[in-house]
Amino acid sequence: MHKELAISISDLRYVCIECPVCRTKVILDMREKSEFAQKHSIFTPKRCPGCEAPYDTAIQPNIDGFQRAYQALLQIADRISFRGEPVAIVSLDS
Ligand SMILES: [Zn+2]
Repeated sequence: MHKELAISISDLRYVCIECPVCRTKVILDMREKSEFAQKHSIFTPKRCPGCEAPYDTAIQPNIDGFQRAYQALLQIADRISFRGEPVAIVSLDS
């Protein structure tokens, strides 16, 4: 039994990063700029606030890029959804 998953970008707001060392989870709000983001002009911290271990170097630039795309997508959120299965009415692959 497979449950169809469809998510609107407007239903998503937070991204969570879990530290592989101490398991501290950081929740970042993609809609409102945090004090951290305003102060450092990057959205994603480069290290864990719990144990100071640096995150994987792919995390900060890619989540920052995702957050910029998210902000742009919010403006067309009523026409966009994300799905777990391809249920397009018109396929682009034919
Ligand atoms: Zn940590």
